[in-house]
Amino acid sequence: MRLIENFIGGEYTAGQGGKTFEKRSPVDNRVIARITEAGQADVDAAVRAARAALEGEWGGLTLEQRVDLLYGVADEITRRFEDFVAAEMADTGQPSHVMRHVFIPRGAANFKVFADVVKNVPTEAFQMATPDGRGALNYGIRVPKGVIGVISPWNAPFLLMTWKVGPALACGNTVVVKPSEESPHTAALLGEVMNSVGIPKGVYNVVQGFGPDSAGEFLTRHPGVDAITFTGETRTGAAIMKAASDGMRDVSFELGGKNAGIVFADADFDAAVDGIFRSAFLNTGQVCLGTERVYVERPIFERFVAALKTRAEAVKYGRPEDHAANYGPLISQEHKQKVMSYYRKAVEEGATVVTGGGEPAMPAELAEGAWVQPTIWTGLPETASVVREEIFGPCCHIRPFDSEDEVVKLANATDYGLSTTVWTTNLARAHRVAARVEVGITWINSWFLRDLRTAFGGSKQSGIGREGGVHSLEFYTETRNICVKL
Ligand code: NAD
Repeated sequence: MRLIENFIGGEYTAGQGGKTFEKRSPVDNRVIARITEAGQADVDAAVRAARAALEGEWGGLTLEQRVDLLYGVADEITRRFEDFVAAEMADTGQPSHVMRHVFIPRGAANFKVFADVVKNVPTEAFQMATPDGRGALNYGIRVPKGVIGVISPWNAPFLLMTWKVGPALACGNTVVVKPSEESPHTAALLGEVMNSVGIPKGVYNVVQGFGPDSAGEFLTRHPGVDAITFTGETRTGAAIMKAASDGMRDVSFELGGKNAGIVFADADFDAAVDGIFRSAFLNTGQVCLGTERVYVERPIFERFVAALKTRAEAVKYGRPEDHAANYGPLISQEHKQKVMSYYRKAVEEGATVVTGGGEPAMPAELAEGAWVQPTIWTGLPETASVVREEIFGPCCHIRPFDSEDEVVKLANATDYGLSTTVWTTNLARAHRVAARVEVGITWINSWFLRDLRTAFGGSKQSGIGREGGVHSLEFYTETRNICVKL
């Protein structure tokens, strides 16, 4: 069995406290790795290493040298593509084609794109008049924020972690990463990449462990951490925000969602069914941008529900490496219990179960895995808990609507505000609705189409701040103004 260690100052090290925990496969519940849990002393060492790198070789590099190194990281990830695919599949149990086409290539892209951004984005300059008539010139310079604490989740571990590490390093910071306890593999593997391309020691550090009273909390409370970027549940974000308030550290939060999909009767029907199917069930519904509330205009409601049911019932369960499979398990038994509790609650609250609602019959060798059926409900009021709360599973509630105003109100009646997907062939209406839905990201006639230069983040309780393109520079650097009297 594999032992996964912390990565501190360029070296893999066992935790100083000697504690370990196990990682089980979502597919069959076998223990696949033991992980050394970082204690306070390990987090101290990681933060010290990150500070030393900042004040040492890394801090002394030119922008061009840094950019070249990050291109090297992207190339090395691509060279070791199969290792990353295997590591991520082991942790998440998701089909290999999702890893190959989305999650791992995006990990490499996260280093390339932000290397390009820092190379090309100018800073501001203002000339001003002065009483003596000679004037003054103001110009901004960007400086790294320092040591960045990166706390990431398990649902697309490598993509989401590098989405933060890429821009943080491009901007000249150093990082201490705490990956989810459910997905320790790829963050650890990235340490090998950093060493082999010559990223100076201490620039990239990984502390493994849990949140409360473990590596996550030790890192977010650490006075040596200058800013914290976090992706995960809204509740966890609140705890981290409290920790960050000591020392006035800046935070960037990408949090939960309860996203609405809106389908008008004039939509390209097949494209809309396909789009909503993907947004509800890709990655077994474990996508923050996924759709758990679907609103369909009444004239096509019955037909739409029937078509989505057909698609949901056609998923092929299987191991990630099984090419015929297109649907994986949930991340863990614990998460399965949570999702199953919502499946029961939906029935208690009076839902019509269109399809699913339980566990699939799996062959004996997969019977212990975290499998649940894709599930569709109708007939619930908007007050029902499965319509209000983020489940983070392969399920959605579908409700008919009769007007544009009504559906905008329904979509906005939530504490969350991450994303929405709108399906219509009426261009004017598409723009109108997009401007009125209170979310950070709207897709029209598409879903999860990502240009990494665009602003990414949530409204309301779905996040604080924006990352992506120049927006990442706002968080990962500090702009200093220099005023020169001429
Ligand atoms: P989580 O909040 O349980 O855990 C996320 C990370 O925080 C983990 O590494 C965990 O160990 C750590 N953590 C937990 N408690 C902590 C504490 N008190 N202090 C410091 N660290 C702590 O989230 P999860 O279950 O891993 O991920 C699923 C959630 O993430 C969903 O809510 C989903 O919507 C959200 N998510 C959001 C986005 C986005 O971009 N907005 C993307 C992906 C996932």
